[in-house]
Amino acid sequence: MLFICRGVHQGMENTRRAFHSALGTAPGAGLTAGINRQLRRQSMIRNTFPKRNVVAIALAAAFAVAGSPAMAKDVTDADILNDAKSTGDVLSYGLGTQGQRYSPLTAINADTVKNLVPVWSMSFGGEKQRGQESQPVIADGKMFVTASYSRIFALDVKTGKKLWKYEHRLPDGIMPCCDVINRGAALYGNLVIFGTLDAQLIALDKDTGKVVWKEKLGDYAAGYSYTAAPIIVKGKVITGVSGGEFGVIGRMDARDAMTGKMVWTRPTVEGHMGYAFDKDGNKTETGISGTLNASWKGDLWQTGGAATWNGATYDAETNLIFAGTGNPAPWNSHLRPGDNLFSSSTVAIEPETGKIVWHYQNTPHDGWDFDGVNEFVSFDYKDKSGKMVKAGGKADRNGFFFVNDRTNGKLLNAFPFVNKITWAKSINLETGRPNYIEEGRPGNPAAEADGKKGKVVFSAPSFLGGKNQQQMAYSPQTGLFYVPANEWSMDIWNEPVSYKKGAAYLGAGFTIKALNDDYIGSLRAFDPTTGKMVWESKNYAPLWGGVLTTGGNLVFHGTPEGYLRALDAKTGKELWKFQAGTGIVAPPVTWEMDGEQYISVVTGWGGAVPLWGGDVAKRVNFLEQGGSVWVFKLHKS
Ligand code: CA
Ligand code: CA
Repeated sequence: MLFICRGVHQGMENTRRAFHSALGTAPGAGLTAGINRQLRRQSMIRNTFPKRNVVAIALAAAFAVAGSPAMAKDVTDADILNDAKSTGDVLSYGLGTQGQRYSPLTAINADTVKNLVPVWSMSFGGEKQRGQESQPVIADGKMFVTASYSRIFALDVKTGKKLWKYEHRLPDGIMPCCDVINRGAALYGNLVIFGTLDAQLIALDKDTGKVVWKEKLGDYAAGYSYTAAPIIVKGKVITGVSGGEFGVIGRMDARDAMTGKMVWTRPTVEGHMGYAFDKDGNKTETGISGTLNASWKGDLWQTGGAATWNGATYDAETNLIFAGTGNPAPWNSHLRPGDNLFSSSTVAIEPETGKIVWHYQNTPHDGWDFDGVNEFVSFDYKDKSGKMVKAGGKADRNGFFFVNDRTNGKLLNAFPFVNKITWAKSINLETGRPNYIEEGRPGNPAAEADGKKGKVVFSAPSFLGGKNQQQMAYSPQTGLFYVPANEWSMDIWNEPVSYKKGAAYLGAGFTIKALNDDYIGSLRAFDPTTGKMVWESKNYAPLWGGVLTTGGNLVFHGTPEGYLRALDAKTGKELWKFQAGTGIVAPPVTWEMDGEQYISVVTGWGGAVPLWGGDVAKRVNFLEQGGSVWVFKLHKS
C-alpha cells in the first residue's frame, strides 16, 4: 500500500388520465409528449437552482482542506480487491466489487442493535431535494457522497463536517428518465470519480475537490446521461451509459482511472463495433459485438437501447466484469423481431480487452421494458455432490431470480421472487429460455384496423420491476439473498413510433397499479440453491432502497416511509428502526473506526416511482422529499 503526501493545491382513460396528471399533461396529450414534458420539467427544476451556488462550489473547494490532514492515503487496486474484507473502509459500490453488500462486522448485532443511535446528519441543501439513491464511500476518515443534480460532498466521517463540495454545472436540456439521481462515486489513487446527468465522468482530487480530469460519456442532447456508481478494475474506471428510453446505444467503457483516457469501449447492442485505444488515443477496431443482424432484423439495432444504466460488478476469481443491460428500443417489440441481443441480459466482459466472454439473456425479445440491469452478485455454494460452484445471482426486473455459473454463464437455477408473473410460466433450465405466455405480450398496433393502438394487456410485474435499481445483499453467513422486491402490475399497450434524436423512443403506453391494498414492497430472503423464500417483511410503499447484511446476523434497509430498519437475518424479525424524516431509496453501509462500528445511509424520497408510478405514485404522494446523509453507532451507557 502506498502512502503519499499530497498538498492542498492538489477537486398513463382513468389510468391514462392519472399518468398524465402525474406528469402534468392533459389526458388527450400523447404519451411521448407527456414524457418529454416531464423531462423538460426536470430540466426546469434544475434551472431554478441558484446559479451562484455553482460559483460557491469553486470557492468551497479552494479552502476545503483547512483543518483536515493534508496527508491522504492513495487507494490501490489491492485495497479495492480487499474491500469486502477490510472493515475500516468502504471503497467501492457494493462493499466490494462482487457486490455482496455483506460486512463481517459483529459489534452491532441482534442483541446490541437496540442501542443504535444517530451520531450526525448532514443536509445536501439546495432548493429542490429530489431522489437520493447514493451509496457513500469512506476512506481515511472521510466520506464521499453524491447527491441529486450531480453534486458530490466530502465530509469528515467522525463529525459530519463538510470539507468540500462540488456541484456540476448542468446544461439546459438534460434528459434523465428517472429523476435527477446519482448512485455514488468510486475511489482510486488520490481521486474520487463520479458521473453526471449530462453524461460526463469527473475525477476530483479527494483532498481538495479540485477537478483533475473530465471526460464525456455521451451526447446528452441525444438522451445520454449517467447515474450509476463507477467501479474500479485493475486501474481502470468502468462505466456504462443511461438513456435506454431515448434509443441510445448501450455500451461499457474502460478508462485509465488516473487520466480518464479511454482504454476500450464495448457496445451492448449486437452489430456495433468495439474499439481499443492506445496511449495517444489512437483507436483500433476490436470486432463488432455479436453478429450483424443475427438477432435484430432490419435497421433498428442502430438505435437499439440496451443501456447499461445500473453499473457493474467485478469478480477477481473469474476476472470478469458483469454488466446488466436495459430494454431494447423501442419498447414496442413488434417493430424488432428477434432476441435483440444484448438487451435485457447479463454480459460478462474481460477487463483487459472489453471482450464479451459470455452473455445470458434474462428476457429475450423484451416487450415490457424489463431492463435486465439488475446487479449480478457473485457467490459460491456447494452443490449436491459437495463441489463448490462459482455462481452469480440476479433478481431481474422481470420477476425471476436467476442463478448462473459465473465462469461461463450457464443457467443453474431460476425461480420467481414475486407472487405474480404474467409474461412467462417459468424459465426452462435446459435451454435457459423463458416459457412465454404469448397472451402476456402487449399487442401489435399494426394488427388493429386504425393501426394506432395495440391490444392492452395486464402485466405483472410492472416495468418498474420485481426489483429495480435497489441493490440486494448476499450473506455468506446465512447463504441467503435479501431482495427488496415489489408486487405491482401495469396495463401496457403498443403504439407506432419512429426514432427522433432526443425524444422519448417507447412506442408504448402504460399505467402502473398495486396488486394488493396493504403492501407493494416486500423484503424477501431467498435460498438461491432451492428458490425457497425463508422469510419476508412487507411494506406499504414500494421498496426502492438497497440492502446491507452483516456478520452480526442483521439486515439493514430503508423504506420510502422514512424508516431505516434492522432485521434478524435468519428470521426477518424487526429488531430496530429509526425515522429519518424522509424516504430512503439508497443502500446503507457499515464500517468501523476507533474500535466502534458505524452505519450510514443517505435519505431523500424520489427516483422513478413518483414520476412513472401511475396509480402507485398517487397512492404514495404523501411522502415528502429530502436529502441528507445519516450516521449511527451504538450508544455507550
Ligand atoms: Ca472495506
Ligand atoms: Ca428501460
